[in-house]
Amino acid sequence: MKKNNHVYDNVLQLIGSTPLIKLNTITSGFIGEFYAKVEAFNPGHSSKDRIALHIIEEAERQGILKPGDTIIETTSGNTGFSIAMVSIIKGYQCILAVSSKSSADKIDMLKSMGAKVHVCPAHVKADDPRSYYEVAKRLHKEHEGSIYINQYFNKLNLDAHYKSTGPEIWEQTGGEITHLVACSGTGGTISGISKYLKEQNPNIKIIGVDAYGSVLKKFHETRELDEKEIYPYRIEGLGKNLIPTATDFDLIDKFIKVTDAESAHTAREISSTEGLFVGYTSGAAMQALKQLNEEGEFKPSDKVVVVFPDHGSRYMSKIYSDKWMEEQGFMDEIAIPKAKINYVK
Ligand code: PMP
Repeated sequence: MKKNNHVYDNVLQLIGSTPLIKLNTITSGFIGEFYAKVEAFNPGHSSKDRIALHIIEEAERQGILKPGDTIIETTSGNTGFSIAMVSIIKGYQCILAVSSKSSADKIDMLKSMGAKVHVCPAHVKADDPRSYYEVAKRLHKEHEGSIYINQYFNKLNLDAHYKSTGPEIWEQTGGEITHLVACSGTGGTISGISKYLKEQNPNIKIIGVDAYGSVLKKFHETRELDEKEIYPYRIEGLGKNLIPTATDFDLIDKFIKVTDAESAHTAREISSTEGLFVGYTSGAAMQALKQLNEEGEFKPSDKVVVVFPDHGSRYMSKIYSDKWMEEQGFMDEIAIPKAKINYVK
């Protein structure tokens, strides 16, 4: 068992330095060696702790934020949770503009973490004054000394991973990493890690994971945003219908697309084979790794790192609910036996 006698001044000191864990069962028969960077070990249970802390501390260094000031973002997901957590410890107000599509559970969670939540109508255009983008912008103007994190268009997002996640992976693999497989949403994670790794060894191959229904893969290949690529999909946090400037496409060697159904089943498979209870995009990243293995991407000597961005507990009413999986038609698409529950009467 791991011994850890450290005592911390506050929860923020636990951000980063997440473990790299060897994948043993789910990769049996694969060619190469596979390791997962498990970001759920951050105290806010996702990789977004890193960017929240970095962007806020950078604003402090620049003298933009003073105690009692306000931090604003448009998210109901992991970034919102991480910003709320950092704000509590550092004494800032946290305002999150979220879409009315966000689940009640998520809104309650953010409120529990001290955030003030503005729920904005989902079905209005981005430039409508009621949209969560416009509400966030207005609140930013109204609160003097506030910062708007704006993770999709903030280069400090990439910088956070360049300064922490990248060096950690390099050190944990003793410089032997050959491939990195990571989801791309804002692109901060993959671009930041890639920037650091390619500075150490430009031959390391960086593979981005995108969703069907998102424009990122096509943009990487053509440098054009093809509106025809855009349609609704279920995976949250992966892919996009716009081009985020937080992504450096030149630092990504190729993209691979994964389906909603296979990613959901693969997340469940990681949990039940490796004992790692991970989120939907971890399933997507692992699904991409399976496809790459089938395509013959890896050699026996390769050391492959896959990033698992967050924890499964945030998806109890989604991929870990048989009812939800059935409603999506995911149970018909792939015949995987359901876990059996015996109700004793
Ligand atoms: N997985 C999850 C669950 C996320 O919330 C995000 C962030 N949108 C990502 C993956 C992708 O990370 P990044 O934004 O750094 O590309």
